[in-house]
Amino acid sequence: MSLLENGHTTQMPDEPHGPDPTDARVEAALIELKAAVGSRDVEKICGAYAVVRKRLAGSKVRDMFERVEQTLGPEARRILISSYSHRQCFMCDAGMVACDQCDGTGKLNDRICGSCDGLGIQLCTFCRGTGWADPSTIPGELARSVHEKQFRYVQGELARFKNEVHITPEAFAKADPDLRRKVGSWLMRLEARLADLEEQAKQANNLSNQTAFGQAVNEVDHLLQTLLRPTKL
Ligand SMILES: [Zn+2]
Ligand SMILES: [Zn+2]
Repeated sequence: MSLLENGHTTQMPDEPHGPDPTDARVEAALIELKAAVGSRDVEKICGAYAVVRKRLAGSKVRDMFERVEQTLGPEARRILISSYSHRQCFMCDAGMVACDQCDGTGKLNDRICGSCDGLGIQLCTFCRGTGWADPSTIPGELARSVHEKQFRYVQGELARFKNEVHITPEAFAKADPDLRRKVGSWLMRLEARLADLEEQAKQANNLSNQTAFGQAVNEVDHLLQTLLRPTKL
């Protein structure tokens, strides 16, 4: 329903037709999005898509995607899902920051730092160790696909870890600090990512994903605790 008010046409919030799709600002936003995709810069792509969504606010998601596909081609959805699933936290190095108890040295008064098990790292408080951008920035219409893509990626990483890292807890305890940090941060990041995905699935009431992601969290936690246990004795 439109109202004529003070000489201006205004739309009521429940206006079913949404914004005018021929709006030059919509066109400009779509052109920006296409340029961002051309640059292959994940931040630019997500930023440009956010503007397109804003310009087409009130449209049905299907109609909005039609416009986006007209601009980007049939790969549009895949490109956007991939971009959001790779978007990074700006506050850390892939989920990790230096341990604030030992300043990243892994030692406190010549003893192993109990806060970080001597690894010298701790989870970034902004992304909780995932290294990913805040999940609340993922548009609702893409969120489920993004989380599933992230899960497949983390599953691949976990398989790669099990293939590549064969180290006993005893050898891990004696390994040089760089190796300990590399292996430890890999597992910590995997666990943080899986726990984050489990939480997203829980919030979305997706029980099957919540269960699958939760089982993977337990598996990684077991691997991590097994390696770290000797240093805790
Ligand atoms: Zn520490
Ligand atoms: Zn972070």
